[in-house]
Amino acid sequence: MSWDTMYDRLEQSQCACGNGVVTRRSYSKMDDWNRTKDGYYDEKIQCEDCNSKFHIEHYIKHFFCPPWKGDGISDTPYLVPNSKTLKHDVSQKQFNFRLEEEIVSSFNKNTLETIVDDMTTSKYSTRLKLTDSEKVVDLYFRQHKKRSLPNIIKLLQQCVYNYNSYEWGFTTMQKYRHKEQLRIETNSKKINDSISQSFELEFKVE
Ligand SMILES: [Zn+2]
Repeated sequence: MSWDTMYDRLEQSQCACGNGVVTRRSYSKMDDWNRTKDGYYDEKIQCEDCNSKFHIEHYIKHFFCPPWKGDGISDTPYLVPNSKTLKHDVSQKQFNFRLEEEIVSSFNKNTLETIVDDMTTSKYSTRLKLTDSEKVVDLYFRQHKKRSLPNIIKLLQQCVYNYNSYEWGFTTMQKYRHKEQLRIETNSKKINDSISQSFELEFKVE
């Protein structure tokens, strides 16, 4: 498997003070199966004044994008003041929960008991009285493609019985999410503040 270079060229952008430039090389490669990869390297601030005040950082953002339209990543380069940075973590932890863990992290123990009561008296998933019960049925359906209450009740009873042995109970999860939300808000503000004092680079082919 070999990659052929389609191009490898010099690009430049104006610098922040306007008296110099920032340069980089950008490339595009293609392999035997017509897959391409693009990138850049060797970014340099070719202006003494800007070089003493700024450094280059890339603001990478992931957004929804259908696979045939690209990779859903936007990359904006900036000259960032040396006292600032765009590197503040705003990512969210992804939990890889099993079904029981998902249920325990979404409902407290009392609610689970109420759901079990509802399911026991209602007998059929179509006659449930509580929205929470329906939520549990949906979670179960996503994994098992079934809505049979006896199996769900059995699972819930185990969740209730072992509730305190789970790492991510409902209260723990709520506290964690709240803290995470604050962290992400604070860090987003820091990033926006840095961007407002930065200079956006617009690279063009020379
Ligand atoms: Zn400059």
